[in-house]
Amino acid sequence: MDVQPVYPEKRLSFPEAEAKLTWLALLLDAHSIVDQGVEQELVGQAKAEGRKLACRKGCANCCRIHAAVPVYPLEMAGMAWYCTEETTGETREALVSQLEAFQEGNPCPFLVDDACAIHALRPMACRQFNVFDTPCAEDEDPFYNRRQDVLTPSDAFKNRAFWVTLPFYGIVDERDKEIAIKENHIHRQVRVLQQCNWKELAKKMRQFDEQRRG
Ligand code: SF4
Ligand code: SF4
Repeated sequence: MDVQPVYPEKRLSFPEAEAKLTWLALLLDAHSIVDQGVEQELVGQAKAEGRKLACRKGCANCCRIHAAVPVYPLEMAGMAWYCTEETTGETREALVSQLEAFQEGNPCPFLVDDACAIHALRPMACRQFNVFDTPCAEDEDPFYNRRQDVLTPSDAFKNRAFWVTLPFYGIVDERDKEIAIKENHIHRQVRVLQQCNWKELAKKMRQFDEQRRG
């Protein structure tokens, strides 16, 4: 069977921003590793069992119903940067309104017109949540009712991804990195996307627009 890669092998690149924001390169490296891990699992499952990815653009029940998407501080910095400096037009306007109005229990505030407005910088948890064969029904979380259809991300790729982000958290020594991964220190940093105060980000985006207009 000829199995085509689903995710780009290449790491996303924002050269100007990465030159100014050293942490952004760490995040893009980590995302690339996670994406490669997901791709390897998808291709492996397709080859071994003929399974097909059900996820596609416009299919967004997961983004409406998931109540606790884990997100790390480095990822939040990346999401805030992308919203502020890279989104444009009607998507940006919708995003600002949703971030301002967001309350826990709402669909994800980054979901605009059934697509992720921060797709390039979406968190690792979203990158890794992939469902096989049958798209999720409305209000269905297949993690609970058909776990066998949910991709299990590779721990090796996840740990490699976390490893490259450790300098952002002040962990630079190789031995300290090994301990941090082994003892799951990174997971103490995790937040819940739906419990974050996104109003501040909306404010920052408005301020950025005002400064740009002069
Ligand atoms: S996780 Fe479910 S709802 Fe989300 S894109 Fe995949 S199939 Fe669609
Ligand atoms: S960040 Fe994007 S992919 Fe993740 S839940 Fe929100 S809209 Fe969906």
